[in-house]
Amino acid sequence: MAPTSCALCQNAKAILKRPKTGQQICKECFFFVFETEVHNTITQAHLFEPGDRVAIGASGGKDSTVLAYVMKTLNERHNYGLELFLLSIDEGITGYRDDSLETVKRNQQQYNMPLKILSYEELYGWTMDAVVAEIGKKNNCTFCGVFRRQALDRGASALQVDHIVTGHNADDIAETVLMNIMRGDIARLGRCTQICTRGEDTIRRSKPFKYAYEKEIVMYAYFKKLDYFSTECIYSPDAYRGHARTFLKDLEAARPSAIIDIIHSGEAFELREDVKATQKQQQTCKRCGYMSSNDLCKACTLLEGLERGMASSVITDRARKKLDAVGPAPDNLRTIPHFRSPRPAVSIQSPSQQS
Ligand SMILES: [Zn+2]
Ligand SMILES: [Zn+2]
Repeated sequence: MAPTSCALCQNAKAILKRPKTGQQICKECFFFVFETEVHNTITQAHLFEPGDRVAIGASGGKDSTVLAYVMKTLNERHNYGLELFLLSIDEGITGYRDDSLETVKRNQQQYNMPLKILSYEELYGWTMDAVVAEIGKKNNCTFCGVFRRQALDRGASALQVDHIVTGHNADDIAETVLMNIMRGDIARLGRCTQICTRGEDTIRRSKPFKYAYEKEIVMYAYFKKLDYFSTECIYSPDAYRGHARTFLKDLEAARPSAIIDIIHSGEAFELREDVKATQKQQQTCKRCGYMSSNDLCKACTLLEGLERGMASSVITDRARKKLDAVGPAPDNLRTIPHFRSPRPAVSIQSPSQQS
């Protein structure tokens, strides 16, 4: 039987079946459609302006490595005019993050981008190894997720960038839609499909891979021979997400468009006015200045729990009451440095300061 020719260029030999569409295509056409779809996602959402300084949240894993490569490629091909940085968070997980950070350091050379690494240890005084030693493996993902979110914003602030892009892919977003439906978390359901989120004066966060299938990201990394780190975190993964993931993979096997269809369904949800009214206003944390929906932000509450030896009781919404019931925080409590948004820092270049 004659080899199949590429369904897109009708010229080269098809060597792969595209996971998203089932088309038999050649390698070069695969690279081009994958990159072009990401470019279309970026331009349709008007994610960037020329001159933007953008940090790529880089873990050394396949998603963020492919993101760094594709952002660099598109920035050059389409003259986005972006200044790109790599931003990595060192959670302090021996045998996992230390190895993946070596990958990011090689990416820094390969892609010629400045790299900033910020560690939980320097920001919070706790590595994840120390957190797990204190609280065990059951809820450590809660600490890690809260700490990472704030660490990324603080790293971006240090780089003077006000836009972070992350490697979240279509599978991640579809899983999150399913999880939020199953948990009845209406506020998050409304937010989780947005390509770009931002608070009042906080750092923008975007997901250029919002519609990119995980299988295609793996395929892209493989055929481009990109240098990435492929070990899973050594601490227990988020069990609930694991169920959603397995379910989604089953749906995808039966019908590949299931992933994109779930995202579209999520996008079509609209919050009723009376549901919106119950949502908390954003304010700033009284202790560290980071955005928060309570007096203290989640990171400060979790850190106080760790410092006071009450970590296992601060992962619920009633955490503050439990801490207060034991008494006020000691004066010498270790806290997070005050948060500075990058925007005011940029506007320091006022005429009075330049003279
Ligand atoms: Zn082709
Ligand atoms: Zn705080």
